[in-house]
Amino acid sequence: MIVGIDLGTTNCAIAAWKDGTPTLIPNAMGDVLTPSAVSLCENGELLTGVAARDRQVTHPRHTATSFKRYMGTRQKTKLGPQQEFTAEDLSALVLRGLKADAEAFLGVEVEGAVITVPAYFNDRQRKATRRAGELAGFKVSRLLNEPTAAALAFGIHDRSDREAFLVFDLGGGTFDVSIVEMFEGIVEVRASAGDNRLGGEDFNDCLIDLVSRQDDRWKQLRSSSGNEMGEKLRAAAERTRRALSDTAIASFTVTEGEEAFTCEISERAFEEHAGPLLARLREPVLRSLRDSNIQVSKLSEIVLVGGATRMPVVRRAITRMFGRFPNQSVHPDHAVALGASVQAGLLMGDKALEEIRLSDVCPFTLGVDNAQIDERGRLYEGIFSPIIERNTPIPASRVNYYQTIVDNQRELMFGIYQGESRDVTSNVRLGEIRIPVPPKPAGEVVVECRFSYDSNGLLEIDVSNPETGVTRNLVLTEHDGDGVPPDLAERRKALAALKIHPREEALNIAVSARAARCYESFVGATREAIGRNITLWESALNSQNPRTIAEQRLAFTEWLDSLEGERFL
Ligand code: AMP
Repeated sequence: MIVGIDLGTTNCAIAAWKDGTPTLIPNAMGDVLTPSAVSLCENGELLTGVAARDRQVTHPRHTATSFKRYMGTRQKTKLGPQQEFTAEDLSALVLRGLKADAEAFLGVEVEGAVITVPAYFNDRQRKATRRAGELAGFKVSRLLNEPTAAALAFGIHDRSDREAFLVFDLGGGTFDVSIVEMFEGIVEVRASAGDNRLGGEDFNDCLIDLVSRQDDRWKQLRSSSGNEMGEKLRAAAERTRRALSDTAIASFTVTEGEEAFTCEISERAFEEHAGPLLARLREPVLRSLRDSNIQVSKLSEIVLVGGATRMPVVRRAITRMFGRFPNQSVHPDHAVALGASVQAGLLMGDKALEEIRLSDVCPFTLGVDNAQIDERGRLYEGIFSPIIERNTPIPASRVNYYQTIVDNQRELMFGIYQGESRDVTSNVRLGEIRIPVPPKPAGEVVVECRFSYDSNGLLEIDVSNPETGVTRNLVLTEHDGDGVPPDLAERRKALAALKIHPREEALNIAVSARAARCYESFVGATREAIGRNITLWESALNSQNPRTIAEQRLAFTEWLDSLEGERFL
């Protein structure tokens, strides 16, 4: 069985192609969204998902969230005083939890996964995502661009040829715009652009900033904010922002010791303050339209993906930008996972899907470094020379020609880069290739450099001197280029040795963590009531009677739901 997984910054979702349709898989709590969170407990065991997310406020130093932002980097997150994890490790732990959920729900072993990535992810980020899947015990059948997945969920394959639609995906930490088109049975991403430092989290920061301008007390609270208060402010901003999706005015509340701080925020004030963030949504839209050469009027749909598109301020900005309303027929939080399961169905060879094929574009530019001499003879080195431009449909093969720049040069060396900057040092270096050349006056030796890139991320570089027949070849696979040794087997063993709470126990811990978080967020009579309920809950746990525990868990969860309103996912 192959499943489709949306590995999001804030939440993940997993779906399977079941009985001819894409089906979302619930986790042990019965939710189809699982927070991308990992937390280390006092006894050294790890929690993932909602139980981990709820510990963020009470145990910020033991809990990690939003780590997708660091995917593909060596940055490590400390959980507790001793243990450190990369984003890749943390993602692997979350994926391992999802695998267990899928196997419990489907009743079969799940070997394969289609995992989605932002179209804008670079090579390193993609490799790290693939490795995270492998570390979790999956065979990663394919990495799929999130907008392609979303397009499948919105049924682009049922549309007529050449109908372009724009996928507007604003998640917790990343923003992607893609233009997707169907032509002769092939779904193609015509262009993608984005900003991988823009998402719901930035709107939280913006809200905190707005609140801290209310008066000196708030200002102080923000500037004195240690780790724990920072977390409380962030959680309060998240709650208020979601409330503002339903009402015009919402309150922003945090507690410090026995004191509660509250202020009212209007959607209008929020919209005004978020102006600069909303303005940043425009540039990637314009870039994708430019790159695909498609006019706004030719777009047949604008589809919304990602939880942050639920904000009315964002929807209004989109409506203004395009002069029409976006399509909301599929829940923005589910579209990517559902689409990934369509791809999984394709890979499993389901007959109902035979007609759809997928094509992708290379999401970034690939090229070499180049030196140039200006008319005064000055040498400029490290200039990026693109060979395969971003948004080229793949597989692709392109050639460029380069000359020697000094007399009697004996060798040409090409650094291989990926990125969009003219200065290669701002791009990602993937490797290098050298070719010997005969000594001749500058400019008289010409070398051909061919790049071939396929949908598995395999980049092949051939350099040749047509005159001498000398050739050199280099293949950069998914596992090269980022200096990470291929020690997957060992790392998998190390991660497998980490204990994760059994699913049933994790449910109980999740309720305890949620109750502890609520206790900290409320004051007065409500807090007292929470305290009484915690005592009841703890005595149920102490009874060690599974039935008593299950009943009390349900009752307590319902009570907390009524206290908090919408489940705080
Ligand atoms: P994703 O990365 O797609 O899971 O999106 C997560 C983001 O969606 C987070 O920043 C959430 O705050 C945001 N989000 C989810 N639901 C809502 C809502 N009802 N109103 C506003 N933002 C939301």
